[in-house]
Amino acid sequence: MASLDSKIPKGTLSDKWTNHKSHINLVSPANKRLIDIIVVGTGLAGASASATLAELGYNVKAFCFQDSPRRAHSIAAQGGINAAKNYQGDGDSTYRLFYDTVKGGDYRSRESNVHRLAEVSANIIDQCVAQGVPFARDYGGLLDNRSFGGVLVSRTFYAKGQTGQQLLLGAYSAMNRQIGRGKIKMYNRHEMMDLVLVDGKARGIIARNLVTGQVERHGAHAVVVASGGYGNVFFLSTNAMGSNVSAGWKIHQKGAHFANPCFTQIHPTCIPVSGDHQSKLTLMSESLRNDGRIWVPKNLDDVQAIREGKLSPTQLKEEDRDYYLERRYPAFGNLVPRDVASRASKERCDAGYGVNATGEAVYLDFTAAISRYGKEQAHVKGLNEDDAVLVKKLGQDVVRSKYGNLFQMYEKIVDQNPYETPMMIYPAVHYTMGGVWVDYNLMTSIPGCYAIGEANFSDHGANRLGASALMQGLADGYFVLPYTIGDYLADDIRTGSIATDSPEFDAAEKAVLDKISLFLNNKGKHSVDYYHKKLGKIMWDKCGMSRNAEGLKEAMADIKALREDFYKNVNVPGTDTEFNEQLAKAGRVADFLELGELFAKDALERTESCGGHFREESQTPEGEAMRDDENFTFVSAWEYKGEPADAVLHKEELNYEEIEVKTRSYK
Ligand SMILES: Cc1cc2nc3c(=O)[nH]c(=O)nc-3n(C[C@H](O)[C@H](O)[C@H](O)COP(=O)(O)OP(=O)(O)OC[C@H]3O[C@@H](n4cnc5c(N)ncnc54)[C@H](O)[C@@H]3O)c2cc1C
Repeated sequence: MASLDSKIPKGTLSDKWTNHKSHINLVSPANKRLIDIIVVGTGLAGASASATLAELGYNVKAFCFQDSPRRAHSIAAQGGINAAKNYQGDGDSTYRLFYDTVKGGDYRSRESNVHRLAEVSANIIDQCVAQGVPFARDYGGLLDNRSFGGVLVSRTFYAKGQTGQQLLLGAYSAMNRQIGRGKIKMYNRHEMMDLVLVDGKARGIIARNLVTGQVERHGAHAVVVASGGYGNVFFLSTNAMGSNVSAGWKIHQKGAHFANPCFTQIHPTCIPVSGDHQSKLTLMSESLRNDGRIWVPKNLDDVQAIREGKLSPTQLKEEDRDYYLERRYPAFGNLVPRDVASRASKERCDAGYGVNATGEAVYLDFTAAISRYGKEQAHVKGLNEDDAVLVKKLGQDVVRSKYGNLFQMYEKIVDQNPYETPMMIYPAVHYTMGGVWVDYNLMTSIPGCYAIGEANFSDHGANRLGASALMQGLADGYFVLPYTIGDYLADDIRTGSIATDSPEFDAAEKAVLDKISLFLNNKGKHSVDYYHKKLGKIMWDKCGMSRNAEGLKEAMADIKALREDFYKNVNVPGTDTEFNEQLAKAGRVADFLELGELFAKDALERTESCGGHFREESQTPEGEAMRDDENFTFVSAWEYKGEPADAVLHKEELNYEEIEVKTRSYK
């Protein structure tokens, strides 16, 4: 069943998507009314896809486990969304966005997909502005931009530190219009439990009403999975607590290949871990690196004094500070990509320069920006530029207008005022570039089953650039899937509605009910979180920021043993006829316990370092990641065979026709 035909159209990069769109099979408006599509997930990818599919005329059934699409993980996105509009006149272009993204992804993404992403990026901004998304504007009323890591232009559109929330409100309004018209039926608090295949095609799902516990059957002509990323396999991450892999894993078990599971993004600017009882980590947006400078003390004595509270960071002289990103990467400085910045922090902290009690924190300092902005404001207003108190106040006002809500969040969590003392930050798991393998049309290796947004293996290769996830999710949802799906559905206009009283639905529903009963009747001695935490620790210690063969082999064995113990000893309280978070979580952790092992297997197999995947055995003498293009210029697509250790590797070779593959350098 499974094939790796990525269906990349012929032609030059710049006309592939245009030509492809023109040759795609279409479904007439009248026939679209006969077609049902299930969309699992209403984050930015799912909400935008649902609204657009319904607008085109299809009947959509949309599912989310939250009580409203407005609460999808997407609202967490703070920093912004990229688009090649060149509003700043700083030399941006479709090609430059395409180039930056392929390079940023360490030459492990599909050239043609990334070019398409860059092409449609500008349309996304127009679409969202038309919906009323309140993007930041400059003094003259034009849309404003800022910079994110790995690029030398300003192309990031933003709405203060709430870009994801505002974009989702736009998509949600568009969805609501279609809900009002009866074109979308919304199933809040419903969790997809399994995919149903009939004659090898995706024909529906089994879902569970999380409030009543009722298990339901839903038929459709196609199923779109937009269920987000799986960073929570690490237990501690910046992701929303509910983010999980289950929908992606269920379709993997039914035949969809899972691609590059080990490609994880570890974000450099998060609030450091404070203790064992934490269940969540908080991101400090990358946008802060526009103005914040990252440093640690140059001398270990100062580090010691700071840790003991005898010295404050603000007392340390300039010459005693090591602005290590500016030192190592003069061209990009504090705006190097996330993987590079994260490894550099780890390197300093491993060498003993970490500035908090655990030794795992570096400073992000706004003093220079406050002074620079303050002087500028004083100059503009004709005030005294030498008045330090005035300059500081004016500078803080500018910083507050740009990042106010992020500073407030930091102060609430850490109880320190970041306007007065530098923030402390450390890398944390943030995003997963891996995910369900899809072809150019975003179809998985199961006919009729699609994956979009962070749930698919995406266009980001081995490392995603900042502000590119929202771009990809909305490109998939607004501008790609709604058109490519017609190519498949054009053959389905005479099928009629999909019956759910078939043996295939019987079998899928029974498997779901059996699993629920297994969990509730197990009466073991450990909570679900006990296992999730243990899994997270194995993942962070052995599959985290740097990996080696020995650790990865141990991780595979440890996760397998943990999984076996989970099924013997997990305890799920309550019943299946009430709102039971522990029961829902048990199913999600069960899937993480399989994914974790495949993740380690994938990381073990890829002996090169690339992007977010750093193999200790593959580094330059300066400690930089060393790719192995000769042996690893491919997407790893894993076929399910039962035990994760038995998964079979398929390789999708990556061909770069229009981009020269080089060693990535930000120096
Ligand atoms: C703190 C933070 C800040 C970020 N900032 C930025 C940024 O500034 N710019 C940027 O580009 N990216 C950013 N990102 C990344 C970006 O937010 C995500 O990649 C993106 O929002 C994912 O969108 P999505 O629609 O694919 O998935 P999600 O928003 O995760 O939505 C998943 C949906 O799937 C549903 N779902 C999942 N499983 C099931 C199931 N089994 N049954 C039913 N429904 C299910 C959920 O209910 C939800 O509706 C940030 C991420 C984090 C964590």
